[in-house]
This record gives sequence, C-alpha cells and structure tokens, in this order.
Amino acid sequence: MIPVLIIEDEAALRKSMVTYLESAGYSCTAAGSYHESLRVIDLQDYYCVLVDLGLPDGDGLSLIRLMKENKATCGIIVVSARDTLEDRVRGLETGADDYLVKPFHLSELNARIQSVIRRTRRGGHISLTYRGLAVDPEGKTATLGGEQLDLTKKEFNILVYLLTNLNKVVTKDSIAEHIWGDNFYGVEYSDAVYTHMKNLRRKLEQKTGEIWIQTVYGMGYKMEDGK
Ligand code: CA
Repeated sequence: MIPVLIIEDEAALRKSMVTYLESAGYSCTAAGSYHESLRVIDLQDYYCVLVDLGLPDGDGLSLIRLMKENKATCGIIVVSARDTLEDRVRGLETGADDYLVKPFHLSELNARIQSVIRRTRRGGHISLTYRGLAVDPEGKTATLGGEQLDLTKKEFNILVYLLTNLNKVVTKDSIAEHIWGDNFYGVEYSDAVYTHMKNLRRKLEQKTGEIWIQTVYGMGYKMEDGK
C-alpha cells in the first residue's frame, strides 16, 4: 500500500478522495485543518501529500514550506480552487511538484499522484494492488497470489488501466485509446479489445477460479471492489 496524506477541509471532498484512493491501492491519512496536518505530517513516510491551500486555520503554502524546511522527500501536490497563474507559480515555487485545480476528476488526481511519485521516488517502483494482485506499471510486472502472471504487453496495459479505474466502467473506446494512443483510428479496434480482454480474463480466472473483470452490457468493462 502506498501511503498518502490528504489535507482538505471540505469534509465531503476529503471523504470521496479517501474512498477513491483507497480503492486504487493507496493507504490514506486525512487531515481537515492546518493544525491537524501538523499532528499527522510526521507520522509516516508518505509517498505523496495532497495540500489544499485554503484551510480554515492556516495556509497550505506554509505547510509546504514547513515540509521543505524539514527536507521531506514526499511528492507534494497542491489541490486548490485558486486557479490564477500567480497562484500556480507561487505553489510550485514553494516546492510543490504539481498543482491541480478544483474541481477535478478523481481519476485525474490518481494519475497526477502516480506521476509525482514516479518523479520523486526514482528507483522505488509503486505497485497497484487489488485482491492479491500486484501490478507494477513501471517495472512491467504483474503477480497474482505471489505468482508471476504471464501477460502480453497489451493485456498488461489493459490491466493497469482497469486498476487505475477501479469501480468505474471503462469503455472499449477508452481502452483502445489507452493501449494504442490518441492517434488510433480504426474499425477493428473493438474486436481487438475484445480479444485482449478475453485473454486477460482467462489468465486471471485460471489462477483463482474467480471472476475479475465484469462486462457492463452496452457500456464496457469494470473491475469492482468488494467481490
Ligand atoms: Ca479549502
């Protein structure tokens, strides 16, 4: 599990960030104020800290300065409604690695976290984990119950895509775009996605006898928690 710290005073948003990121394989600590953040900031070696700038009892930028003074090695992402160029520049100058403007999609947040962790933890690969499955997108390895899964490159990419979109339906179109890139235009992709998906499913089910990927008729595919 990848430890992340979420500093956000809006309770509903904080909760949805925690729920989503935990389902994506992170272990989340959350703080709703400046002072609460101070209490938890040194509790763990977080891989990434998400910082809201507007906190009721202080400014997120001061927290970032503090982390930098203490030589924190975590990645830092500002998550803020302040969206002027000046705000962004100030955030990044203070030492944040990225700046995400509210409102945002949770999948976008996940992508930014992964990218920041990749940049700040060179050599230390992160794994996406789920039900005994551990996938390292960078090292290109996938294991299930500790055993190596023998996947083709496309099957591997589809698996990573499903795992980063846990609990969400992904369409064949978005899968095609993910594995072939934005410039993919073609009529056969639907069949190709179907074939790769079928093989990936078979490999996962063979090892466990369980269903891993659901078909959502007329929409696409989904990997779901709580099964
Ligand atoms: Ca706020």
